[in-house]
Amino acid sequence: MSAKILDGTKIANDIRREVAAEVASLAVAGIRPGLAVVLVGHNPASEIYVRGKVKACQEVGLYSEQHTPPETASTADLLDLIEGLNRRDDIDGILVQLPLPPHVDAKKILVAVDPAKDVDGFHPVNVGFLSTQRPGLVPCTPAGVIEILNRSNIPIVGQEAVVVGRSDIVGKPAAMLLLNLNATVTVCHSKTRDLPAVCRRADILVAAIGRAGMITRDFVKPGATVIDVGMNKVTDPGEFARLFAGNAKREETFRAKGSTLVGDVHPEVTETAGAITPVPGGVGPLTIAMLMFNTVKAARMRRGHGVPEMAHL
Ligand code: NAP
Repeated sequence: MSAKILDGTKIANDIRREVAAEVASLAVAGIRPGLAVVLVGHNPASEIYVRGKVKACQEVGLYSEQHTPPETASTADLLDLIEGLNRRDDIDGILVQLPLPPHVDAKKILVAVDPAKDVDGFHPVNVGFLSTQRPGLVPCTPAGVIEILNRSNIPIVGQEAVVVGRSDIVGKPAAMLLLNLNATVTVCHSKTRDLPAVCRRADILVAAIGRAGMITRDFVKPGATVIDVGMNKVTDPGEFARLFAGNAKREETFRAKGSTLVGDVHPEVTETAGAITPVPGGVGPLTIAMLMFNTVKAARMRRGHGVPEMAHL
């Protein structure tokens, strides 16, 4: 039997509509939440991400502005910029697009962002709030994972959840959110022994690895929910064939573009899982939607308005 496909694009659009309604109600109170995006130098992928974020802000009615210091900007230059944004009352969220140029001390920059405006949720203060279950700003992609589960009525309490990947931006916060929501959580990484056997315990399997199609059917318990966070560009024809041989639509795209986007989960898992997020169109769209949500959440919390709906985040 084929898994239920969890439509991230639809869920993200629902969240964007809710955020737009919240922005409209704050406007009545004379508040327009604002997001400042800092993009250093010219990284083509980062430029695409930032354009998407700014466009999304416009669509939900948030104020946004872009700061584009040159590639040569020093750590001190960027600290000055961040401190200026921290002081401004019209800016509720500050997002520093990663990666930063290698000569910049990225950790110093991220810690300089006011935790109350840290819409990426990467500041150690927000990491601490999450792990001690206090209200704070939660990283967008893991928050999106939880929204997909909740809005698809997939139970979390008491379930075995296995998260593959322990990065600060996806794996660890995803595991912490699932633990806070009373799942029994196992976190795996590159040194985990017998990864397929550990993954097969999962009722909810979250793959955040960065390896195209690594999670094959022997990693998945029949009927499990599989959340594929991975976003990998495949250009090698052999690798493409391993993943998509016989998929006419993908073959056509691959021929035309010379590449295709694939998650960390092999497409064959659709035959084993009970529910699964596609790539593209699964977790990806949630990341920007949750950034919009976090900007409104930051605006409300800074003004003592309390947290908006979806307060479990
Ligand atoms: P990352 O920082 O590279 O972390 C990857 C994690 O996977 C590490 O913890 C690593 O283990 C683990 N890992 C690597 N190879 C493994 C193996 N063979 N077996 C078991 N574990 C292994 O990556 P990330 O930033 O978390 O991103 C993960 C994926 O999510 C990437 O494909 C990225 O593009 C995607 N992503 C998507 C979104 C979105 O919006 N959809 C957002 C962010 C990231 P060690 O710790 O032992 O090295």
